[in-house]
Amino acid sequence: MKMKHKGILIVVSGFSGAGKGTLMKQLVRSYENYALSISMTTRKPRPGEEEGREYFFVDREEFEDKIKSDGLIEYANYCEHYYGTPREYVERQLERGKDVILEIEIQGALKVKEKFPTALLLFVMPPSVAELKKRLEGRGTESKEVIEKRLKRACEEAEGIEQYDYIVINDELEECVKEMHSLIQAAHYAPFRNEEFIEKMRKELAALG
Ligand code: 5GP
Repeated sequence: MKMKHKGILIVVSGFSGAGKGTLMKQLVRSYENYALSISMTTRKPRPGEEEGREYFFVDREEFEDKIKSDGLIEYANYCEHYYGTPREYVERQLERGKDVILEIEIQGALKVKEKFPTALLLFVMPPSVAELKKRLEGRGTESKEVIEKRLKRACEEAEGIEQYDYIVINDELEECVKEMHSLIQAAHYAPFRNEEFIEKMRKELAALG
């Protein structure tokens, strides 16, 4: 089918510990045409995280300056830290026809949906709560107190799942990556993401008389 695709925004949310980060890295590695947005945050880097790879790590003042200069598409407060999506990279990649992935929490996801109605919203779930707890504890990078806060937050986030387009269960990594890719590919063919193409076809048909 000859239909020129514009890049779409893909918002991926999910409980802390659901494995979103690993999934996204694997998705970008496995297929062309994805660009992963790197967020800005005021939380401190975890061991193994690098500036400009997982996040741009900044202090509160720098973050607030970015808000004031309208440099973020959205931002939210999550467990006492700011997280936000820098505007410039996302807009540039969309213009280049890339599908841009934002791995963000639910408040941000809903703001993106408001600003970009054609965004695709995916919610990643672990196979069970027991598995979620195991993954969070097994990560060994957060204190008991932080893990408790994140599980509490998961409970709140679970209330908003119906606002997403699809849920994806992260049981087996490769399977899940394939599933996400298929969902994203299918989303490109929704009529509301192809209004220009449909309009052009209608005009040409009408011109036939
Ligand atoms: P973590 O501290 O585990 O890296 O991230 C905590 C939460 O913040 C996750 O749910 C993650 O998806 C979300 N998050 C990361 N970047 C952004 C962002 O730019 N905006 C928003 N709203 N949430 C983000």
